[in-house]
Amino acid sequence: MKIYTKCAKCRSEIVLKTNASDRFVLAKKIGETIDLSCKSCGTNKKYHVKEMKAEESKIVGFISLLIFLGGTSGIFFYLWPYFFRTSYIYAISALIGVLTVPFLIYQAINFGQSNKVKYFNAKQYG
Ligand SMILES: [Zn+2]
Repeated sequence: MKIYTKCAKCRSEIVLKTNASDRFVLAKKIGETIDLSCKSCGTNKKYHVKEMKAEESKIVGFISLLIFLGGTSGIFFYLWPYFFRTSYIYAISALIGVLTVPFLIYQAINFGQSNKVKYFNAKQYG
């Protein structure tokens, strides 16, 4: 999850590096107003925690996608010979079950992240 606000002058995103789960935690950690400088236009301004927004991190989304794609193909290539060695339907369905593990991890990461974003944005400060 990424916490950000928009620059008052040029509307560029100013990203705040924090792991605060909501605006109350944020205010407790760094105060109700946060001094931020814009990387695009250099404007320095104090922003209120109310102006902070959360968004899903693209990096986290990308990493979870890598886990999904890499994990699934890795397991697939590793298990591929076993598909032919076994004729038991239970064994085959177990192998298929293993194949879904990276997808479940991918889902859990993304679901967790979107929940955090919803929580931060829904909980108003004040
Ligand atoms: Zn700016």
